[in-house]
Amino acid sequence: MSVIDSAGIRAPIEVDISHAGSARSGAAVSLPARPRNNPYIAYRKLLTPQRVKELSALRPWIPVRDTIWCWAWIAAAWALVFFVPTWWSVLLAIPVIGTRYYALFIIGHDGMHRRIFTSAKRSDWFTDLFLIGPIGMVNRVNSRNHLEHHQNLANDDDPDLHKHACFNKSDKLEYLLFLTGLSALVNVYKNLFIHTGKVDAAGRATAAETDAVASSENHRKHSLRDIAIILSWQAALCLGLTLLTGLAFGGTFDKPLSILLHGFWGYPALWLAPVYIFTYLPNLIRSFVEHSHPEDDDHADEHRLCTFLSNPVERLVMSPMNMNYHIGHHLWPSIPYYNLPIADKELRAIPAEKRAGLNWRGTYAGYMWSYYVALPLEECRNSRQRRLHDAHAK
Ligand SMILES: [Zn+2]
Repeated sequence: MSVIDSAGIRAPIEVDISHAGSARSGAAVSLPARPRNNPYIAYRKLLTPQRVKELSALRPWIPVRDTIWCWAWIAAAWALVFFVPTWWSVLLAIPVIGTRYYALFIIGHDGMHRRIFTSAKRSDWFTDLFLIGPIGMVNRVNSRNHLEHHQNLANDDDPDLHKHACFNKSDKLEYLLFLTGLSALVNVYKNLFIHTGKVDAAGRATAAETDAVASSENHRKHSLRDIAIILSWQAALCLGLTLLTGLAFGGTFDKPLSILLHGFWGYPALWLAPVYIFTYLPNLIRSFVEHSHPEDDDHADEHRLCTFLSNPVERLVMSPMNMNYHIGHHLWPSIPYYNLPIADKELRAIPAEKRAGLNWRGTYAGYMWSYYVALPLEECRNSRQRRLHDAHAK
């Protein structure tokens, strides 16, 4: 294993596997963890280094344009509720706000890889201010989960394992509960907001793929700047949406309490609910299906890279900004989202035997249904991963 150091030279790194499998909880577990494994490295040769370099060239005007466009849609949805204050305008606004914020979050995912601007600093500012700050995240602190996921996709300590593993979706009840997003909520929150601290070798290695200097500055504590961005966004959204709905639905400035009485639901209905239903949920489900197989997790770990070709309507809801081309993204995280369709086309032009083990699927709904009908999965219920998980939970 190697990383690109700040001078751009590949250098070996030591990865500590002594905590593999118990890194999340720190609990003593008698089950042995497997050695760290990455079965996907060989696929990275499917495109030449020169071609990957070409496809990784950044055109920052594209994410800037897309960001403005998505926020314009969200602003238009809020304006609709203000100028046409009725139940159907609210119902119409919720999916517009949620799906367009999801698109912003996916642009923010490029930000987590520091692939918006060539300057990591500028990339972080843009990501925090306009993309992930509105949901209480900042790149320096909260990208750790994602970078570790890239590094550990085939390992026990992938922080996203709970999303794509089958051990916790081994019967229909567990699966349906997962699809509500509720059973994953605690893990997602812990991984993003509590599991911070200094980034380890695995996280550093992935960050270093795109920006070694920035990753070494990644100390994972909120600075005053971070707190200011997060609190400013929440204050603006809470006050702004309470005012917007309060005034639109009968409140007046001369009776401030009337604004609160008529508009108390503005922030939950026009921000929290859209983000939960149309950003958190589809992103959780997408994370599941793009790495999942209805089979024992140890076996699934060997071929977890999946791309969904899908269709434009489903992509709008499930994987905006080309996030469905997930094979290309995992193999070459340096390729920005606007070049992933080209990378995918070139990958699929390679003879099938050379890319065996990579999975191209049809629709998200189709895979979700095929997983449902495959349940219950005894091999998942009795798997090593499940016993490991249960041991941690004790
Ligand atoms: Zn990523």
